[in-house]
Amino acid sequence: MAKLTINDVDVREKRVFMRVDFNVPMEDRDGKMVVTDVNRIKETLPTLNLLISKGAKIILAAHLGRPKGKREATMSLAPVAEKLAEMTGRKVAFVDDCIGEKVERAAAALKAGDILVLENVRYYNEEEANDPAFAEKLAKVADVYVNDAFGTAHRAHASTEGVAHVVTKRGGKAVAGLLMERELKFLGDELEKPARPFVVILGGAKVSDKIKVIDRLLEKADAILIGGAMSYTFKLALGAKTGKSLVEPDKTEVALSALNKAKARNVQFLLPTDNVIANQVNTGKLNKKGKPVFEIVNPRLNTAQDIPEDAAGFDIGPDTAKHYAEVIRTAKTVVWNGPMGMFEDARFAKGTDAVALAVVEATKNGAKSIIGGGDSVKALNNAGLGDKVTFMSTGGGASLEFLEGLVLPGVAALADK
Ligand code: AMP
Repeated sequence: MAKLTINDVDVREKRVFMRVDFNVPMEDRDGKMVVTDVNRIKETLPTLNLLISKGAKIILAAHLGRPKGKREATMSLAPVAEKLAEMTGRKVAFVDDCIGEKVERAAAALKAGDILVLENVRYYNEEEANDPAFAEKLAKVADVYVNDAFGTAHRAHASTEGVAHVVTKRGGKAVAGLLMERELKFLGDELEKPARPFVVILGGAKVSDKIKVIDRLLEKADAILIGGAMSYTFKLALGAKTGKSLVEPDKTEVALSALNKAKARNVQFLLPTDNVIANQVNTGKLNKKGKPVFEIVNPRLNTAQDIPEDAAGFDIGPDTAKHYAEVIRTAKTVVWNGPMGMFEDARFAKGTDAVALAVVEATKNGAKSIIGGGDSVKALNNAGLGDKVTFMSTGGGASLEFLEGLVLPGVAALADK
């Protein structure tokens, strides 16, 4: 169901409490935390600019990292507020708390078009516990609630859900920001009746993470192309040998039932026919988490059904990439989530790159291409192709849950159109 957005409400001179996704990567440089990737801040600018032009008093709430209820200095949003000021060319106020008198005073000082950034909401355990009293405290400075943080909308936390309910109960409006609106449009509405052929590409590490998405999209897709380590669990289910590949032996049943469902529904379900394999050698060293570090050596093509006992699959092979690209190029709607291999290592990135190029080509041919967040977005951006697809989701877990057809609490709490 379509949600009300900031275009539908009067925000002039009102205090707009907006939940944003400012969970940006940071780095300690000479004792000062510095934002190293501004993408998430950039994504909120259209909503911010519209609110500024409408004369709202803007109060931004967000989380950063996992401080687990403590004031963790390295996870302060102060550097983000500074960066936002730089990016907007405006003064951005900051309070080192997200509730209480200080916040109320700073909010009272706001004039139309002003921006105030609150401190990390996860400095309080009550945030993730969705504590009603905490939500009331956050809502003290909220006449209108806006959620523009799709990436956390699958969490029912105080700032993503609780505040929306408090504001609504008081007779105020809880609405979507422009970024949230776009996410709902592309991951939701556009896939209700997709233009055909509808091709879904799924990769990544685990079948267990994606099986619900596979199950749901099997009801709509014309073709599903599988890559990444999860393809080996499907192979295992079909009786092939997978060597040392990353597999989930306890998920072969669900893999088989997906394959059967595909057959019954006449959905083309493609698995890799060749793979890039390699051997893992234990270096005898331990990583930070105390786990053994393996070196991956001797990458080579494997065209047999079985993977040798001492080797693991790390990417789809060139034949598979070519075939997948052909199918993708014919699509009118594409959904892509998850890399085709261990793409962080250039030796195993070719399959993912080939799929990225094919998705871009399909888009040029008029297809709508929707990238379901996470590593596929990274892969496209690495290849400089991020602006050549129709839509890249800013959510990882949230986009997967949305594609599964789940109701996201942060979305459900917003007013319907
Ligand atoms: P996901 O978060 O489930 O989309 O998985 C992404 C991760 O899966 C990336 O870090 C990839 O390196 C990893 N991955 C993909 N294919 C493989 C593979 N064949 N073997 C090991 N890891 C893989």
